[in-house]
Amino acid sequence: MEIASLTIDQIREGLLSRRFSAKEVAAEALRFAGQENASTGAYLLFDDEHALEAAARVDEKLDLGVDPGPLAGVPVAVKDEIITQGLRTTCGSRLLANYIPPYEATAVARVREAGGVILGKTNNDEFAMGSSNENSYFGPVRNPVDPERVPGGSSGGSAAAVAQGTAVVALGSDTGGSIRQPASFCGVVGVTPTYGRVSRYGLVAFASSLDHIGPLARNVKDTATLLGVIAGRDPLDSTSAHAPVPDYAASLDGNVKGVRVGVPKEYFEGLASETGDLMSQAIRTLGTLGCEIREISLPHTPYAIACYYIIATAEASSNLARYDGVRYSFRSETSQTLSDMYRNSRGEGFGAECKRRIMLGTYVLSAGYYDAYYLKAQKVRTLIARDFANAFEQVDAVVAPVSPFPAFKLGEKTADPLEMYLSDIYTITGSLSGIPCMSVPCGLTASGLPVGLQILTRHFDETGMFRLAGAFEQAR
Ligand code: GLN
Repeated sequence: MEIASLTIDQIREGLLSRRFSAKEVAAEALRFAGQENASTGAYLLFDDEHALEAAARVDEKLDLGVDPGPLAGVPVAVKDEIITQGLRTTCGSRLLANYIPPYEATAVARVREAGGVILGKTNNDEFAMGSSNENSYFGPVRNPVDPERVPGGSSGGSAAAVAQGTAVVALGSDTGGSIRQPASFCGVVGVTPTYGRVSRYGLVAFASSLDHIGPLARNVKDTATLLGVIAGRDPLDSTSAHAPVPDYAASLDGNVKGVRVGVPKEYFEGLASETGDLMSQAIRTLGTLGCEIREISLPHTPYAIACYYIIATAEASSNLARYDGVRYSFRSETSQTLSDMYRNSRGEGFGAECKRRIMLGTYVLSAGYYDAYYLKAQKVRTLIARDFANAFEQVDAVVAPVSPFPAFKLGEKTADPLEMYLSDIYTITGSLSGIPCMSVPCGLTASGLPVGLQILTRHFDETGMFRLAGAFEQAR
């Protein structure tokens, strides 16, 4: 069993033909992940005991001839921004360094029900705020392709785990690009579904109107299978959609003849030259598959960063107010009065990036500034979403870069937060619009760094997105 390159289909086939047991897969995955973790720091915690138990249950079902589920025996990694019952969940923060949740995220519960074997929790930027995974209280994650470089963020641990082959699939979360950008930097597939497609119950809130849970894997089909498991209405999240869940994996029929693909001209200015070359090559490949390539315009793109960093910080400042040291988060022991206790717990508990965002978000929501900043940003958000709606009257999908450049060096952008924010320019627009978007590998730079192609489609057209991504992956 070649654990580092296994796919969901291969595990299924191996289990059904009795070439290996789920317990053997889990034991080997845990061994390999433990061995490799020193080089990347992708995992914060391994859950050997429950992983082996879950695998044993799959083996029992196989023995009894009961269907063990679509993820039977599949090693899964879960971003530490997602709640796991009884298993420490830190959000990469000192505030939650000892937090053991009493409940389970819906996506995690569905993975378990489907026979998935959760190996452990993966590192991320504190409360999912960042683009490089350098903002975690527990230290950075390193890119398995080049350990001097960042894996991207904030789901850097999940992307690194999948790229390294220690997990077959992973759950990440995306607010402004945190699944697609690390997927692109690490050379794996990452999917941000339509807002509301997957329940956010148990995803620790960063910016609630933008937060999504989504899958990462080494191939398109595995992300499609995992999305099929976690998607669908959940009464515990009132923003989860009632829409039925199609069989995403079955949509990968390779037939993309006549699909109209839009190339937004605003997304190709200021790209690193190798990224630009790989984009052109990818667009030519789509052309040879029979897609009809059209230039389109998304004119409000230049306002996306400012708009996102107002809305996301406003929501974050409200969501992070709950970490006051009173009920469950870190409490400073040095305080004499109640107000000192609040101040010191938050002051010592939050890292610099969270503090920056709380201040910015509180400012834009303040009386006198609300209309000028927050309300204005909401209006701009509508214009950005309308850009896509107009585009989708002429085309079926939009393709774009994920990031202006490939993985950068650790420390390269930490001195200037604004420069870090600018790396999100191409992912933020999809997040603000709530449409499905994904990153699929499209090649390597001369120095071997992966680059991802972004595919975006209409609300709830994950099927069309997977079909295009699958055909592209095959053609490469
Ligand atoms: N990099 C963006 C930010 O720092 C997006 C993060 C995310 O999607 N969670 O806000």
